[in-house]
Amino acid sequence: MDIFEKCAGGFTQAREAREAGLYPYFIPLTNNEGTESIIGDHHLIMIGSNNYLGLTMHPKVRQAAINAIETYGPSCTGSRFLNGTLELHLELERRLARWVNKEAAIVFSTGYQVNIGTLSSLVGRDDFVITDKEDHASIIDGCKMAYGTMKRYNHNDMAGLERVLAGLPKDAGKLVVVDGVFSMGGDIAPLPEIIPVCQRYGARLMVDDAHSIGVLGGGHGTAAHFGVNAGVDLIMGTFSKSFASLGGFLAGDRDVIDYVQHTARSLIFSASIPPSNAAAALAALDVMETEPERVARLNEIAVFMHQRYRELGFDIGNTQTPIVPIIIRDYEKTLMAWKTLFEAGVYANPVIPPAVPPNLALLRTSYIATHTDEQLERVLSVMEQVGKSLGII
Ligand code: PMP
Repeated sequence: MDIFEKCAGGFTQAREAREAGLYPYFIPLTNNEGTESIIGDHHLIMIGSNNYLGLTMHPKVRQAAINAIETYGPSCTGSRFLNGTLELHLELERRLARWVNKEAAIVFSTGYQVNIGTLSSLVGRDDFVITDKEDHASIIDGCKMAYGTMKRYNHNDMAGLERVLAGLPKDAGKLVVVDGVFSMGGDIAPLPEIIPVCQRYGARLMVDDAHSIGVLGGGHGTAAHFGVNAGVDLIMGTFSKSFASLGGFLAGDRDVIDYVQHTARSLIFSASIPPSNAAAALAALDVMETEPERVARLNEIAVFMHQRYRELGFDIGNTQTPIVPIIIRDYEKTLMAWKTLFEAGVYANPVIPPAVPPNLALLRTSYIATHTDEQLERVLSVMEQVGKSLGII
């Protein structure tokens, strides 16, 4: 059998969506100014970005990236392990560790690489890694790459977590991994409940703060939000969201970071984060420190949008953050809602199976600290029209 047989005619689901005029992916943006984007001749309000603090447009962040290219060039052309470490990377690591209140941090080239590298490094043959069923794909992939055994529990189900831990050998190494803010639902992992369960069974806890840093706890993340820093052993973050850059990091005790940085294959066998991305992340951290009003505005917008969507009758699940899912459940209606919004000047992301379970198609909307009240009102008005025309509300 030809291995390419399954590819005949391309990817079936994509072909069918294209034929129906409802294909929403890989559309090039001609211009992206943070809260507004241009695609073809469409001027769109952007509610599909993870640029939570609007820092892609911040002059200090942009200038830092330009200066770094001029000083160091566009690439380090090597791994962090060898010729790919600059003083800039070390400074960023010191600053990040301080920001999340941990001893040390190590910077990877993407958040995805942090998760696959960390989990495959730490979860050895006789160890267990325990995940929430809504954890990000990069955590699942990291578990698959690890030699140890993965166990899962239902989303935010504390009794389920306890049942899994109670069933594992007492003296085995155990690592529980959760998203601090879940990337599709926008709800928060209940760390004050998770921590004592982990402690009862001698499990370590890692929190993926991709959507929490810059958002929760004054921007310091989920542990800071709950005031439970000591109960969280490892915090990972990415630069591809609030930091307006690309890259990621892991923070924790010095010994653990030292171990991971000498064993994580996605760090060692991949080129280091380019100087411009490291410099942009560092500048973004400066802005988070000096302009706390951005974090405050972001959370004000989140509360406002939750309230207004609920008043309009939308199902937005249990979100507590600027990630607001518009839960539609029907696959075709979700694509039609995406398209109608697009035609009316609003960009949102359709999320359909297999990215979510079969009965859970949704529009993922997310907000930016620099959205104006006028933009938000326009979004709500368009969303109301779309919701009514498709029978969603
Ligand atoms: N973790 C979570 C929860 C994410 O949402 C993402 C990105 N979507 C990642 C990790 C990976 O981050 P990156 O984009 O830096 O690879």
